Amino acid sequence: MTFVFSVVVVLGIAARVLPPAETEYAQAAAPAHVNEKGVCVVIDPGHGGDDEGAIGENGTMEKDAALQTALRIQQELLARTKATVILTRDQDVDVSLEDRVKVASETSADVFISIHYDAFTDPTIQGMTIYFFDEEDWNLAEAIHERLLDSDLNTEDRGIEFEDYHVLRENPSPAVLLELGYVSNRSDEARINSQDYQEKVAAAIADGIIEFLKSR
Ligand SMILES: [Zn+2]
Repeated sequence: MTFVFSVVVVLGIAARVLPPAETEYAQAAAPAHVNEKGVCVVIDPGHGGDDEGAIGENGTMEKDAALQTALRIQQELLARTKATVILTRDQDVDVSLEDRVKVASETSADVFISIHYDAFTDPTIQGMTIYFFDEEDWNLAEAIHERLLDSDLNTEDRGIEFEDYHVLRENPSPAVLLELGYVSNRSDEARINSQDYQEKVAAAIADGIIEFLKSR
């Protein structure tokens, strides 16, 4: 009887030790809800430092506009969710494509969003394009696309396109690259520099990210 009793005591101790381990396992198995801690979103403002990206007729630099949009998306997400929101750069510095992807892999990001503005030799070309690489990216692309369409942005929708970009191809997280307007187009360049457009675009992208995280 003494032997049986001591087994029960040992099991009792084991049972008290077990719950935290079980909880950890449960968190790893299911993605954290967007309103719980544990969700990580990486926002990647394209270019930076010596790499200015596209430059508009009125001097708009893609690297600056991309950073401004990224910071606004970060603010939106921090205000509306409990997600951790990390920028691949929050200053005017050059970051390699490898290092941008490394931020996603090291943080096991739930979402990776790369922000860009376009340019083209034909100044009449304008509008927004969303790029994806694989199936994992598609739902994220669709969620953001839908919200941008709903946002009354008064710019052309160029849809969702496949592209073999490094930050998408090498990315372990669901990832999209957003081209949010052409600095080489006069109307787009004016829009990109307006507070109204920046606010609406950031809110729409945050909406799309939240929608995607809820749907997992
Ligand atoms: Zn770019």
